[in-house]
Amino acid sequence: MQNKEKKVVEYVKSFIREVPDFPKKGILFYDITPVLGDPKGFSMLIKHFKERYVNKKITKVVGIESRGFIFGGALADSLSAGFVPVRKRGKLPYKTVQKEYSLEYGTDVLEMHEDAITKDDRIILCDDLIATGGTAQAVAELIEQQGGKIIECAFVIELNFLKGRNKLLPREVHSILQY
Ligand code: AMP
Repeated sequence: MQNKEKKVVEYVKSFIREVPDFPKKGILFYDITPVLGDPKGFSMLIKHFKERYVNKKITKVVGIESRGFIFGGALADSLSAGFVPVRKRGKLPYKTVQKEYSLEYGTDVLEMHEDAITKDDRIILCDDLIATGGTAQAVAELIEQQGGKIIECAFVIELNFLKGRNKLLPREVHSILQY
């Protein structure tokens, strides 16, 4: 890891709040809101992603509801790219394409507007955190189904022990902080 990257990791990690038993017993929740509230921390994260993707001709950043909207929106602006929200079922107003994905108990559905992505799009898929990888995998499939090319899947946090990135193979995956 380069010195500059180490500094980002050290600084930002000090702002990640670990909350035990949220939203339910046994889950250690990585709360990113203290980073968002720190102007230097938030800006460091967006700059890190921007430097990584600025020369990759990215046309759209796809953010996953809801924390993926925060990082994805800022990143899209910094790359002068468009932003595409992927939302839980029933939230988007126009015609959608959908993907069902597995949760710990049962399944849920993610949606994207049917005209949000075209076959010429070069895309960064963005979320705050990758755990099991099920959510990002569903979104990746949705994007590719619409003909978009995923250049990389970008996360602020990766929970290594859950091996979520394996679900995204052979796509490129990048995270800033690992636990
Ligand atoms: P997964 O599909 O298991 O990779 O879960 C990823 C989604 O759930 C992301 O949108 C995360 O924001 C959220 N998530 C899962 N586990 C955690 C956790 N331990 N702390 C914070 N967010 C989490």
